[in-house]
Amino acid sequence: MSGEGSIVTVDRETLARNLEQVRERIAAAAERVGRSADEITLVAVSKTHPAELVVATWELGIRHFGENRVEEANPKIEEVRRLLSSRGEAAASGDSGPQPGPIWHMVGHVQSRKARDVIEGGYALVHSVDRVKLARRLSRFALEAGRVQKILLEVNVSGEATKFGFEPEALIPAVEEIATLSGVRVRGLMTMAPIVPDPEEARPVFAALRELRDRMADRFPELDWYHLSMGMTDDFEVAIEEGATIVRIGRAIFGPRRA
Ligand SMILES: *Cc1c(COP(=O)(O)O)cnc(C)c1O
Repeated sequence: MSGEGSIVTVDRETLARNLEQVRERIAAAAERVGRSADEITLVAVSKTHPAELVVATWELGIRHFGENRVEEANPKIEEVRRLLSSRGEAAASGDSGPQPGPIWHMVGHVQSRKARDVIEGGYALVHSVDRVKLARRLSRFALEAGRVQKILLEVNVSGEATKFGFEPEALIPAVEEIATLSGVRVRGLMTMAPIVPDPEEARPVFAALRELRDRMADRFPELDWYHLSMGMTDDFEVAIEEGATIVRIGRAIFGPRRA
């Protein structure tokens, strides 16, 4: 059974309880603003945690998983596939299309020289496209693989120097170019809020991303601006109140990250 042995950081019961609490908090936040919890995709961010824990989480009904480093993630994706097929799990559940199994999200910064690895990883969505050059390379390798890579554009709303992402003012010229790339398809925007003691302080950042999304939808109505990927363990409820369609949650599900 998964969940046993020292490499798993959180036992099954704790994991189940954490997931239930996160789901309840998502539903309550959605309800506060008259939204349905069904509109919000929970991405369980499994970085630093082993494949066995992903499998245990999958068995508890989670379908979307996020990773932030392709070097760690691609082998893990393979291992999860092996583990699930060895127990006949993934094959039995056909809910993610032709290749059933977890739906993977790349949420972390991608170096340009890793673009090919990202395409090889087979991520359903790359959240962290933060420059035109990366979009160009993803597009090229996706086309070579006969695919179209869905992407979000990461925006540095808070303006912190340490954060990746397009400056809001740089977004329009970037999108003008990205829209011409046939190997990538924009699905919306992503941001990381600053780390603040009170999640309320992150609210203006989330509201600003939503407003920026609405402006982009006016300016580029031919593109798809549906998604707002925003909200992590410390601030996901506020993000949902401000319109998040995807929340990326690690610690509230898996506990502290491993070294
Ligand atoms: C690690 C990570 C998360 C999840 O963070 P938690 O605070 O553990 O919920 C979300 N998004 C990105 C980009 C991350 O790297």
